Parts: sequence; structure tokens; C-alpha cells
Amino acid sequence: MSAPADSLLDIRARLRSFAQERDWDQFHTPKNLAMALSVEVAELVEHYQWLATGADAELDEAKRTGIRHELADVLMYLVRLADKSGVDLHAAVLEKMALNRLKYPAELVRGDARKSTEY
Ligand SMILES: [Mg+2]
Repeated sequence: MSAPADSLLDIRARLRSFAQERDWDQFHTPKNLAMALSVEVAELVEHYQWLATGADAELDEAKRTGIRHELADVLMYLVRLADKSGVDLHAAVLEKMALNRLKYPAELVRGDARKSTEY
């Protein structure tokens, strides 16, 4: 259980069990999960609101813990949404990174943060 794909499968299995034990599978529709994911992203972003950069030096221990927990919430809803949508997340990431490599060739965009439509 050390490869990234295995980690995602482990998380997916734990989330399936968690939902089944509570009879919550019925509520985990793709729409509900997408909305919950969006809420968790907002909860994560809230920790950074009004900070200059959000770099570690600006954070106290309570903020670090909050950020860690919201990152976990985001990942859990993302994995659950992918599961209920029939998406292999690891394969999807590899597919999208291949597309991004074509869209942003390193030799063309190195050090340039503009979007592909801006250069
Ligand atoms: Mg949360």
C-alpha cells in the first residue's frame, strides 16, 4: 500500500465502508458530492483569506491543523465523487497531465505563469 494509486484505492475503500456503515450511500449522488466538495474547498480557502501569501510562517498551529483537515475533506469528497462517477482518479490524472504537457511545453512556458491563451 505505498504506490499513489494504491493510496487512492485504500481511501476509496475506507470511504465506501464509512458510508455503508451509516447507510449514507443513498445521499452520495454525484450532484450532492460535487456540492459538498465545493463547500470543503471554500472551507480550505477561508483559512488563507486575508493572509499575504499563506506561506507556513504566516500560520499558527490551529490554522495548520484546520488546513490539514480541510485538505483531507477535499480529498475525501473528491475520491468519493470519482468513485460514484465511475472515474479512475489515478488514470484521469495521468491522462490530464499528458494533455497539460502538450498544452504547456516546458521549453515554451518555463517561468511564465500566463494561461495558454495568453502567449
Ligand atoms: Mg471541512
